[in-house]
Amino acid sequence: MKPPAIAIDGPAASGKSTVAKLVAKELGYTFINTGAMYRAIAWYLHEHGISPSETEKITALLPDIPLEFGKEDSHSTVLYAGDVLTHQLTDPAVNESVSIVAAIPEVRTFLLRKQREYNRTEAVVMEGRDIGSVVFPDTPFKYFVTASPEVRAARRAAQGLTDSIAERDKNDASRACAPLAQAPDALLIDTSHMTVEEVVNRITQDVRAKLSH
Ligand code: C5P
Repeated sequence: MKPPAIAIDGPAASGKSTVAKLVAKELGYTFINTGAMYRAIAWYLHEHGISPSETEKITALLPDIPLEFGKEDSHSTVLYAGDVLTHQLTDPAVNESVSIVAAIPEVRTFLLRKQREYNRTEAVVMEGRDIGSVVFPDTPFKYFVTASPEVRAARRAAQGLTDSIAERDKNDASRACAPLAQAPDALLIDTSHMTVEEVVNRITQDVRAKLSH
């Protein structure tokens, strides 16, 4: 039997990363950050002076981009030339281009395969925009985590980041291929007035209840 896949989707700064990491820890599953995978491609293209609008060039290049999607201490990593990418992934240039790169269907197909690969042999908590709708449409564990625009902007500012999340959300929700969307069978959790612990408990209780049936 395939190991469980917990899908956690939502807009930027909804708190889904924090929650997904803790849910993974609580359940003993591997945490997979798919945003980091899209960010790594956007970073590589920027480093090599390739514009996100050069879709044909990007498509041809994809199989040869020397990024490695790995795992360390129960969470996903992206390596370039043997080094784990960290601050590079939140570079302002990446924040600006990532949602344009992520709208390229070939980029999504390329990463979709890598994302599913993680769940072939192990249980995962995967966070992103299309995990419940596209990556694992058959999983019974789907959560759509959101918060009001004001709360999300405040959370972003508290992280010391000033990127335009509204612009990114607009791009993510309006793209033709795998847009940011709540899967019809996903549990909607508005975290605006919830603590992190409350959100984590809501999800882990639901997962455990479904696993025991
Ligand atoms: O989650 P994070 O904000 O780091 O994601 C960065 C960007 O990557 C998103 O704004 C979106 O454009 C893209 N993304 C996506 N599908 C996913 C995860 C991220 O399109 N599953």
